[in-house]
Amino acid sequence: MIKKPIFKLALLSLLILIGFNSCQSEGESLQNIEEESLSGDLLSKLAGLHFDISNAKMATMFGEEGVRVEDLFLTEEQIDELIESYNDNQTRQYHTVNLVKRLPRVITIAVSPDLGTLGSNALDDAIDMYNNVGSLITFERVAFGLKGKKKANIEVTAFSEQPSGGFITLGIAAGFPSRKGDPAKSFGINTVWFDLLNPSQGEVAGTMAHEIGHCIGFRHTDYQTRESCGQNINEGSAGVGAVYVDGTPTGSDPSSLMQACGPAQTLNNNDKIALLDMY
Ligand SMILES: [Zn+2]
Repeated sequence: MIKKPIFKLALLSLLILIGFNSCQSEGESLQNIEEESLSGDLLSKLAGLHFDISNAKMATMFGEEGVRVEDLFLTEEQIDELIESYNDNQTRQYHTVNLVKRLPRVITIAVSPDLGTLGSNALDDAIDMYNNVGSLITFERVAFGLKGKKKANIEVTAFSEQPSGGFITLGIAAGFPSRKGDPAKSFGINTVWFDLLNPSQGEVAGTMAHEIGHCIGFRHTDYQTRESCGQNINEGSAGVGAVYVDGTPTGSDPSSLMQACGPAQTLNNNDKIALLDMY
C-alpha cells in the first residue's frame, strides 16, 4: 500500500517519492512559507530529539515563526518544551511525552474550503477512522473559520509547495500536544499534491489521519531509520533503544499510518493499539 504511489510515479517517470516530509519551498504559497536556514543551536536541539534534520528550515506557517522539520512545524517554544519533557522522562517513545489531557474529550476539527469537496469528504473519513477505534478521544466536525470559543480545536488549512529533492510534502502538522494538554491547533494539506498527482479520497483521508496523529502526540513509527522514505538513517546502537507502546512491534511496521513516508490510508492494528494505550 505504501509503495503503490511510488510505483505509480515510476511509471510516470517522475522521480518523486510520496513523503509527508523532506521538502523545500518554492513558488507561490497560500500560507506564505518563507524559509531560511537554521542556527546550529536549534539544529543540535532537534538532533537531540531524534528528528531528521536534513531538511530542517526556519519558516513562517500557521501565522507563527518556527521550524519546519519532517512534516512538522514547531515553534522554538514547542522545541524547548519537548526537550524539557524528554529530559524529565529519559525515554524516547513512539509517542511524545505530552499528550492530550482532560479525557474523555471531544476534539472539534474544521477544514478550509480551499481544500474543496475532496478535502471535506476526506476529513469525514479521517474522523471516522479515529472515532471507530473507541479511544477516549473522539473528533467532531465543526464549521471552518469560527471565532473565540467556537473555533475548532484543530483547523485543517491549505498550503502550496512544489516537490523538491525527490519528495513532495503532503501535509504539515503544527507540532504535538501542548504541555497544558491541548492538541496541536492545526495542520496543513498541500494543494500542489492535489493538482499534480490527483490523489484518491482514501489517500487524502490517510494523510489527514496521519497529521491528526501528530496533533494528538504520535511521532513517526520509523523515526529512527526513515525507512519508509527509502532512507537508512542509522543512529547506532544507542539510537535504537526507543520505548514503544506495549503490544506494538519494536521493528519496522511498514503498514503503520505513522510511517514518515506514505501515504498509508488507514490506521493499522498496531496504530490502534498505540492509540488505545495513549488514550
Ligand atoms: Zn508525519
